[in-house]
Amino acid sequence: MKLKAMINSLNTNLDIQKSETSKIENVDFENLAFGRTFTDHMFVCDFIDGKWQQPKIMPYQAMTFEPSARVFHYGQAVFEGMKAYKDNAGKIWLFRPEANHKRINISSARLAMPEFPKDYFFAGLETLLKMDKEWIQPGIGNSLYIRPFVIATEPAISASPASTYRFMIICSPAKAYYSGKVRVLFAEKYSRSADGGVGFAKASGNYAAQFYPTSLAQEKGYQQIIWTDAHTHEYLEEAGTMNIFFRIDDRLVTAPTSDRILDGITRKSIIQLAEDNGVTVEIRRVPVTEIKEAARNGSLKEIFGAGTAAVVSPISAFEHGNEVFEIPDLENSYASKFKKQLQDIQHNLSEDKHGWRHEVK
Ligand SMILES: *Cc1c(COP(=O)(O)O)cnc(C)c1O
Repeated sequence: MKLKAMINSLNTNLDIQKSETSKIENVDFENLAFGRTFTDHMFVCDFIDGKWQQPKIMPYQAMTFEPSARVFHYGQAVFEGMKAYKDNAGKIWLFRPEANHKRINISSARLAMPEFPKDYFFAGLETLLKMDKEWIQPGIGNSLYIRPFVIATEPAISASPASTYRFMIICSPAKAYYSGKVRVLFAEKYSRSADGGVGFAKASGNYAAQFYPTSLAQEKGYQQIIWTDAHTHEYLEEAGTMNIFFRIDDRLVTAPTSDRILDGITRKSIIQLAEDNGVTVEIRRVPVTEIKEAARNGSLKEIFGAGTAAVVSPISAFEHGNEVFEIPDLENSYASKFKKQLQDIQHNLSEDKHGWRHEVK
């Protein structure tokens, strides 16, 4: 069955409980702190007795769980991050959403959690977006951040996979995410992920594990850490929630994905856009020594992070081995060029030759 047909056939089966009032009147869309305001509804589906039960949309609300729910003890939890956009005609768009669905199931499989069916995912997501469409503001930089996630709900504290799970989607309106100048520390001691580990999964515990080393970096005046390989700390891998690109002269260099690195949708879109623009992209290991040398001899033109939340985030300085390197501002940077091209596609302002946009009708 075609995706659209599957969604239509399932829509009738969604159990929908509409909110009686809307919170939208109280929202100041000009001053939104990221991820703190939630729309009127949420999508919920429980996994019980070996199968996903009746999917539901209900008013966004607090939920109760037993203190013994396994997620609280063993961190069996995965999530996704995606965005919906509204164009000037009021149409709603998603960007490569099938990749998010695929990835949450890859993450779930690694955490011994059940995969979530594609028809449920799209029916829940699209119905939710249509119900809360007033929360999506038009204009470049405005979006609705979408957070699908799965948690282990079974009340049992033996260290083994749960038999019950809850899949949910919550949504939060987001304003252009201006991160300011990002200064970063190249990791020399701590690691985000290791061979054979869960670095490629959007597993909740990966983020908790970064908070402490990142807080140490922040005390030294750096907003983020660029993680290096856990073995040698000699190769640059990615940032905490973003993949990372280096521009050396006019070439773009980024690390290959692996079981340590998250396969970012923004990353692969930027690689494609760069190639479309005739820019040479090198997907290979990136030695710290090479980047320091390139910074010294002036061939390092840019470093930027790429991820759904901030889209593209230019980095203005890095520290490694007690040496600080400032990266001068650049006019016509790849960061600003690819960010604009990506946003124009996302907001239905330019041709979508790779078929990345998905209309929610
Ligand atoms: C989510 C995430 C990214 C970016 O992925 P996108 O699909 O581009 O949003 C990169 N690295 C890590 C560790 C992430 O969690």
